[in-house]
Amino acid sequence: MSSQSLMAALLRPELLASKAYAVVPSTGLIKLDAMENPYGLPELLRQAWLESLSDAPINRYPDPHPESLIAALKRHIGLPAGIELMLGNGSDELIQILVTAVAGAGRPIMAVDPSFVMYRLLAEQLGLPFVGVPLDAEFQLDLPAMLRAIAEHQPAIVFLDWPNNPSGSLFPEADLAAIIQAAPGLVVVDEAYHAFSQTTFAGRLGQYPNLLLLRTLSKEGLAGLRLGMLAGPSAWIQELDKLRLPYNINILTQRSAAFYLQHSTVLDEQADILRAERDKMFRAITTMRLPVWPSAANFLLFHTPGKAAQVYSGLKNAGILIKAFTGHPRLGDYLRVSVGKPAENSRFLSVLESLL
Ligand code: PMP
Repeated sequence: MSSQSLMAALLRPELLASKAYAVVPSTGLIKLDAMENPYGLPELLRQAWLESLSDAPINRYPDPHPESLIAALKRHIGLPAGIELMLGNGSDELIQILVTAVAGAGRPIMAVDPSFVMYRLLAEQLGLPFVGVPLDAEFQLDLPAMLRAIAEHQPAIVFLDWPNNPSGSLFPEADLAAIIQAAPGLVVVDEAYHAFSQTTFAGRLGQYPNLLLLRTLSKEGLAGLRLGMLAGPSAWIQELDKLRLPYNINILTQRSAAFYLQHSTVLDEQADILRAERDKMFRAITTMRLPVWPSAANFLLFHTPGKAAQVYSGLKNAGILIKAFTGHPRLGDYLRVSVGKPAENSRFLSVLESLL
């Protein structure tokens, strides 16, 4: 039997039909494609961080439930009493756990469209229907359409990225509250870009039985650590925690996150600089007469009608990597740029202008 026929016999058809999450190689390029913090730790802190790792017992399994780290992260987020926190190898892993938990019941996963691709990808790979409710022409939430879709499809989970990736839109808080109240299943508010929007539903956890919150350290500056957090009423977290692999957060990440929490003001200051840079880039792109959307995150979505491929490859040839949405039914003509260091952003803007 050939591998092909064996795979066809064994693997779920949804898996065979799905595409892997694509990451464009970036070696040697100015990397403005993945909403990372461009700064990294200042040199002095770097030394202290390395020292904090020096006696990490890498011959042992890490603590499967690092209580003091979890308690410190709860304080960092500002979780109300009675709300529990579960750690993931990036929030991607927690999204996978959530989707896995409801796989089998046949009820769909729902999100706005466009939104973070992993919601759709994981639903499809696990054989669950996915319903994407289109954002309006300004990439804002269409609340009536969302409420109709919820009533019609009875989703097991509604994921709301707040701010939204890829538009940067920050949907009205009251609309989110209306969705949470209307949804018959879970609503997961994904606050991956909290460091830049400074908005949160954390204070409302526990007020709704179906509200969970996702956070990550990735966007504020520690993408390489892979540390995501899922917060919610303890009964939910206890059940979902059964799906977490026992040692999913390695010792180096545990130590580094604990170190970060003692020095988080450094990253707060970097987030302030990135927000100011984002607003400068917004104004500069507007001056080039390209439609660009107001963003509460550390990236900007802009429209290059008929020119996206040319602008994307022109930038790449000039050593700058941004995000294109080639083949996307709605975003094919759009590009997304993450905010980098001031010199990187200036270079991006001048190359962009030269390509128009
Ligand atoms: N949620 C949103 C809205 C995102 O944009 C991303 C990353 N692009 C993630 C979650 C995943 O983050 P992590 O690095 O924690 O897996």
